Amino acid sequence: MSGVLVCAETRSGDRSEPGRRAIDFELIAAGRALSEQGAGPLAVALIGAGAEAHAEQLDVDGVEQILVVPTALEHFEAHVTQAALQALIEQHCPAVVLAAHTVDSLSFAPALAARGGHGFASDVLAATWQEDGLHAERGAFAERLIAELDFPGKQTVVLLLRTGAFASPHDSGGRPDGQRASVTRVELDLDAAARSERVELREAPVGDVDIAKADFLLAIGRGVGSAEKLAQIERLAELMGATLAVSGPLVEAGWGARTRKVGQSGRTVAPRVYLALGISGAAQHLAGMSRSRTIVAVNSDPDARIFDVAHYGAVADLFEVADALERQLGNGD
Ligand code: FAD
Repeated sequence: MSGVLVCAETRSGDRSEPGRRAIDFELIAAGRALSEQGAGPLAVALIGAGAEAHAEQLDVDGVEQILVVPTALEHFEAHVTQAALQALIEQHCPAVVLAAHTVDSLSFAPALAARGGHGFASDVLAATWQEDGLHAERGAFAERLIAELDFPGKQTVVLLLRTGAFASPHDSGGRPDGQRASVTRVELDLDAAARSERVELREAPVGDVDIAKADFLLAIGRGVGSAEKLAQIERLAELMGATLAVSGPLVEAGWGARTRKVGQSGRTVAPRVYLALGISGAAQHLAGMSRSRTIVAVNSDPDARIFDVAHYGAVADLFEVADALERQLGNGD
């Protein structure tokens, strides 16, 4: 068994934004790293009706082959994707199959791995190819520990990678090496595979504002202390022309709207500026914002993990900073 097979997400046709999803480029970047470490050549599987149209966009540095599997169904169907991937694994015998840790992949990848007797790990934060094969890392005990995994005896391992955890150098396609991937159309009889019928795709409610589209987010965390004090931060966001976002605990406490939550179980955002006040930088929060262009963090704890991803940081009381900003913007009391 040799090689890395990336299973690209094929739901872009359902999305309001045209083009491939950013996670595809993260998967490819992770696959390319494994390939360079010795896992074998990198191929990308595009499964779905009209998937061929995306082949050129995914023909990026490191990709040697693009396998296009056309399907009769216009929309994503888990069993069809599972059957297609199973056939590709049988034909190409990859050592590693990479897919995104998304609701789509979770609906077929565990079954794919169980049926094929493959190794499996979900929500993977890091993966390396070493002398003795594949190693992966994932959070354990609610992210308090990082579990290191290896897969002894497994010929093929299926990994679901956490979105935002892998650097993605490709955001516009193209390849600096001047090479082209070979594009192979794989005809499979998948007609009998579908077991569910698509009724409707309903996007999750975005609330009064879609934080994923905001250019400037002011994100507030548990450091705010109380719902009452949140009012000052809301006022500051308005003064600064920023959109308010919140960390998970504020939603759980009922202080902030679920639609404004950033992170693994909230929205993934990548604004021009992300100002984080009183946010510790838990892995689940970073998963949703670490691709922001400029991250500014204010936290009273110099060891807070948010400073690991911040471009600018201040070890300070967030209310002192908020007061100073309000004064500067001409609204101080
Ligand atoms: P804390 O970790 O409590 O941090 C508060 C910070 O404020 C501290 O660093 C403290 O030093 C600082 N602080 C306190 N007072 C002040 C002050 N006056 N001035 C400046 N700084 C101050 N979390 C998310 O955010 N999004 C998710 O999508 C998400 N999904 C999750 C999914 C799962 C399955 C699990 C298990 C957890 C998830 N979480 C999520 C929760 C996550 O693990 C963290 O608990 C959460 O991100 C912590 O939020 P926080 O940084 O606001 O709070």
